[in-house]
Amino acid sequence: MDNNHTTFPKVIIIGGGFGGIQLAKKLNKKEVDVLMLDRHNYHTFQPLLYQVATGGLEPDSIAFPLRKVFKSQKNLNFRVADVLEIKPDENKVITDIGDYSYDYLVIATGSETNFFGQTEIEHFSMPMKTVPEALNLRSLLLQNLEEALVEQDAVRKEALLTFVVVGGGPTGVETAGALAELRNHVLISDYPELDIKTLRIFLIEGSPRVLEPFSEQASAKAKEFLENMGVVVMEQTRVNGYDGKIITYDTDKTINTKAVIWSAGVKGAIIPGLEKAEIVRGGRIKTTTYNKIIGYNNVYAIGDLAYMETKDFPHGHPGVAQTAIQQGQQLGDNLIRIINNEQPKDFDYYDKGSMATVGRNKAVVDLKYWKFQGFFAWLTWMFVHLLFLVGFRNKAVTLMNWIINYFSYDRGTRVIIRKFNRELMKEEMIAK
Ligand SMILES: Cc1cc2nc3c(=O)[nH]c(=O)nc-3n(C[C@H](O)[C@H](O)[C@H](O)COP(=O)(O)OP(=O)(O)OC[C@H]3O[C@@H](n4cnc5c(N)ncnc54)[C@H](O)[C@@H]3O)c2cc1C
Repeated sequence: MDNNHTTFPKVIIIGGGFGGIQLAKKLNKKEVDVLMLDRHNYHTFQPLLYQVATGGLEPDSIAFPLRKVFKSQKNLNFRVADVLEIKPDENKVITDIGDYSYDYLVIATGSETNFFGQTEIEHFSMPMKTVPEALNLRSLLLQNLEEALVEQDAVRKEALLTFVVVGGGPTGVETAGALAELRNHVLISDYPELDIKTLRIFLIEGSPRVLEPFSEQASAKAKEFLENMGVVVMEQTRVNGYDGKIITYDTDKTINTKAVIWSAGVKGAIIPGLEKAEIVRGGRIKTTTYNKIIGYNNVYAIGDLAYMETKDFPHGHPGVAQTAIQQGQQLGDNLIRIINNEQPKDFDYYDKGSMATVGRNKAVVDLKYWKFQGFFAWLTWMFVHLLFLVGFRNKAVTLMNWIINYFSYDRGTRVIIRKFNRELMKEEMIAK
């Protein structure tokens, strides 16, 4: 299929995430024909997925239509397409809606949940990487509570009222904190017939401390916040299995649970076809210092998918939105340099710091020269997240929701729009 209407070089960007959007914007008004392909017609603001999963935000407020992002960009076409394969020898990508040819290809597909080859855990636990997955999780949590109300068997009831979050990185910490707030402020009045004190929340982390990439001070404070909210934090604990009813950890210890949320790792979302590419730890593709995939002349990778060694980051850059944003912007400039036969510039990551929130008035922020926690950290976290949300409407709706939730202690979107059906999921997995 032909996607261009000029003789300018054709650039295909796979993925309208943090990196893909910034790259495409940099190419606006340049002499290139851009085609963006994404399997969704919207950009997902992943940092707030956990708020959708716990009823704090509507899904629409963290998703933004990609066509709207680029409505005034004349040199860009967008197609909803699942890219199935890359044929670098033919300069072509194969998608579920047809084939497209390129002069330059940028892969910005991000990452996917990593179950580390544990198929049973993959089948029974809940990932949280996309809006539909966050909605599945929201339905499951609420369905479990409804079932617990009528369950007569004590063991089954305990399992329905036990939520286990695996992985104590920012996503796991934020999810466990949000679940605790939901229990402590909302469910207690929604389910007066249930003894809500029996609703247990566990956070299991394999390394010696939660928020391991953060400062020790931030880790300790996050743990303290969580424990004060009633979360059982288990560090240096390895999950061995989960069969849908019992999670096993440290070889032979168990917890009864019907809700395991898996936030223990991600791996690069690789598309088949790049046989010459070097895939490193975490399923990332090795690139040069200007994001060109080693082994190819005109194929690039940015964001979560890219692994680049530099002097300051000898083991690659963190898999966070800032890396994708900065690499997308830099590659936009570099592609124009390359097309004009100029030397591309090396990527130099500017680390703006890390932050995670645990609940109302509770967050941790690590900046280069200043680390702080508590109320001011929480305000900073909210400000930064609002700043990076795509679209004015999304910012306004999210801010309004947060204000209402803050004063009412409520989480308004605790609705089961469509039931989560694990058996249906299983069939889909087998069909895949
Ligand atoms: C729950 C969660 C919380 C997070 N919290 C934070 C946080 O607080 N702060 C932070 O900085 N980072 C956070 N991150 C990480 C951050 O979201 C990622 O680092 C960032 O999204 C990476 O950007 P990207 O452009 O590489 O990929 P993404 O933003 O993931 O975009 C990839 C795009 O590619 C599309 N795609 C993938 N495969 C295909 C295919 N085969 N065909 C077509 N389209 C495809 C996807 O639909 C998606 O739109 C979080 C991530 C998660 C999952």
